Amino acid sequence: MITFRRLTLLFFILLLSLNLLNIVPCNAACGFIHPPAPYVYAFLISLYLGISVAMAFLPCSNFHHPVICKGETEKKIVSITFDDGPDPIKTPGILDVLKKNNATATFFCIGHKLRGNEQILTRINEEGHLIGNHSFSHSKWFDFFPARKMSAELMETDRIIRDITGKSPLFFRPPFGVVNPMVSKALKHMPWKTVCWNIRSLDTMGSNQRKIMNHIIYHLKPGSIILMHDFTPFVENCLDELLVRIDEAGYEIAPLDILLNTSAYA
Ligand SMILES: [Zn+2]
Repeated sequence: MITFRRLTLLFFILLLSLNLLNIVPCNAACGFIHPPAPYVYAFLISLYLGISVAMAFLPCSNFHHPVICKGETEKKIVSITFDDGPDPIKTPGILDVLKKNNATATFFCIGHKLRGNEQILTRINEEGHLIGNHSFSHSKWFDFFPARKMSAELMETDRIIRDITGKSPLFFRPPFGVVNPMVSKALKHMPWKTVCWNIRSLDTMGSNQRKIMNHIIYHLKPGSIILMHDFTPFVENCLDELLVRIDEAGYEIAPLDILLNTSAYA
C-alpha cells in the first residue's frame, strides 16, 4: 500500500539519483545517460505534491494516516453518524426520530457548538448514542493549521465533552473529511481513532431528498458507515423514512463501537 511516507522516500531517492547523474562526469560514452533537464525536476515535484494533496481528500486510502471507513463484518449491520452538531433546533428532532425507531447513532460534535447546548449533549449521551470529536472550530482553514493547534482543538473539545458527560471520546472525525500530513502529525501519539465513512449521503449538497434516500439505500453493505449532518432538510424530513427503509432492507443499525468492535471512550 502506498503511503505518504513511502511516496516521500521514493521521491527523495529519485531526486538523489537524478542529482548523481548531474555530478557524474559524462562524455559521449555515456550513451543515453544525460543530466536531467530542469523540467524533469519540475514534473517530479508537481507529481509528488499533486498526489499528496489529492490523497488528503481520500481519507479511506490510509495514505496520510490510518482511517476507519467501515466495519469488518459480513453481518448486515450499519452505523449512522451525524456531523457538525449539536444544533439547538434540529438535533432534538433527530433524537426523537431515533428514539421512535429504537436506533442508536454517533454524533460527531463541534466543540464551540457545545456551549449553550449542554442539555442536548447530555440527552445524546443519556439516550445511548455515542459522541465523537469533530474539532473545536471546524474552521474552513482547519487543514492549514499547524499540528499543535489542531491537537489543542481536539483536546479542548474532549475537555468540554468530558465536563458535560464524564466521558472522553476516542472517535475523531476530521473536518471536511480531509486527512493531510498536519492532521496525521496532530493525531500521532494521541488516543483518537479517526473514523470517516463509506456512504456519503450528500445531504448538504442536494435538494432532491428522494435521490439522497435512494443513494444511501443503494449503497448499503455490511459494515457501512453513513455520513449525515444534524442540520440538513434531508435529515429533518426523511430520517424517519430512512430508518424504516434500512430496516426493510434487512439491516440492523448499531452504534460505531459495536460495528467496529472497539471502545468509543477512554
Ligand atoms: Zn463537519
